[in-house]
Amino acid sequence: MAQKRDYYEILGVDRGASADEIKKSYRKLAIKYHPDKNPDDPSAEDKFKEAAEAYSILSDEDKRRRYDQFGHAGVGSNGGGGGAYGAGGFTMDDIFSQFGDIFGGEGSPFGDIFGGGGGRRVRRGSDLRIKLKLDLQEVANGVEKKIKVKRHVSCNTCGGNGAKHGTALSTCTTCNGSGQVRKVVNTMLGQMVSSNTCPTCNGDGKIISERCEVCAGEGRQLQDDLIALNIPGGVADGMQLSMSGKGNVPPRGGVAGDLLIVIEEEEDEHLKRDGNNVVFDMHLSFVDAALGTSMEIPTIDGKARITVEPGTQAGKILRLKGKGIKDLNGYGKGDQLVHVNVWTPQQLSSDERATLEKLRNSPNFQPKPGKNEKGFFDKMKDFFH
Ligand SMILES: [Zn+2]
Ligand SMILES: [Zn+2]
Repeated sequence: MAQKRDYYEILGVDRGASADEIKKSYRKLAIKYHPDKNPDDPSAEDKFKEAAEAYSILSDEDKRRRYDQFGHAGVGSNGGGGGAYGAGGFTMDDIFSQFGDIFGGEGSPFGDIFGGGGGRRVRRGSDLRIKLKLDLQEVANGVEKKIKVKRHVSCNTCGGNGAKHGTALSTCTTCNGSGQVRKVVNTMLGQMVSSNTCPTCNGDGKIISERCEVCAGEGRQLQDDLIALNIPGGVADGMQLSMSGKGNVPPRGGVAGDLLIVIEEEEDEHLKRDGNNVVFDMHLSFVDAALGTSMEIPTIDGKARITVEPGTQAGKILRLKGKGIKDLNGYGKGDQLVHVNVWTPQQLSSDERATLEKLRNSPNFQPKPGKNEKGFFDKMKDFFH
C-alpha cells in the first residue's frame, strides 16, 4: 500500500490554516476534480476522493487535533497493519452525503455541478463505542490489543445490496430512480413544489426484486470482528480514540460508521499516576533510614532495587528517571518518584524501649535540620514545577 499523503499537502494549505481556508481550498479541489467534469481523466476521481478524505479529517476539530498529534494513525486511516485501520475508503456517495453542506442545496452555485438537492442519499452506519480497560503498564508503554467487536458488516452473499445473489437492482418506478418525488401543493401563496424522499425506495432510487436469503434484503450481517487496536503510550482515562469505517455498515450499502474506543484506566495496586510521572510511597523503618539499606520496589516494568543512603530523611523524594509514562505527544517519558516515609514503631517491648531510651539523649539523635534539608514546600517546587 502506498504511503498516504499528508492531508494538509493534499488540500494545499499550511498546518495553521483556519477552518474557512480549509473549506475554501477543498471546495476548489472538489470542483476541479469532480469526475463529471473530468470524464477522460480516471485519476480525477481518486484525487476527488483523496481531497474529500482529507477534508473529512481537517474539517472536524477533534479529528484534526488527533491527526496533528498522531498523523494518520490518530484518525484510523493509516491503511497499514493488515488493514486493521482501513481508511474505509470514500465512495462518491459518501462524499455527497457527508459534505452536502459545502456543495449547498438547490440554487447554490454548486447545485449544477453536484446535482442540487442530492437525489442520491447515502446512509452512514452507526458508530460503535467500546470501553477498553488498560492497566498502568499498558497505559505507560502503549499496547496492541485485538478485540472482538460485534458489528454489522456488508453481507457476503449479496455484496451488500440486499438482492438475491447480488443481482442488479431495478430502477424504482415511483421516482424513476431519482430517489425523490416532487409534489405540487396548492398554498395561499400559490403553487409550490416540494421534494420528498421517495416512499417506495426510501431515497435509494432502486428497488430489490428478489431479496437475498442470507440477510433478508438488509444487505448486512452481524458479525464478530477481530479488530487490532494500536494504543499509543500516555493515553488517559476517558480519552476517546476512533477508527473510521470500523463501526456498523448501514442497511443496503453505504459508509460504515466509526469505532470509538473509550479508555478506562485501571488503578494500580502500588503506583499512582501523576501526569506522566508515577508515584510510589515507600515505607522504611527508622533503623533502615539511619543505617541505609537496599530495597526492592515495584515499578511499571517490574521490580527494581534501589539504594537507600544512610541518614535518609523522611519526606525525601527519590527520582527514577525515565521509569514513568510515555508522553502521548512523543516527548520522552516521565519518571517514577519514590516518596520516603519513615515508619515509627507503635508498640515496643521493654527491651526495645530500653535500647531506645539509651539513645534518647545521644547527640546524633538530636534533630539538626541543615540548609540541605528542604522543607515540604521547597520539595514540591523542585518536583512539580
Ligand atoms: Zn445479503
Ligand atoms: Zn423511488
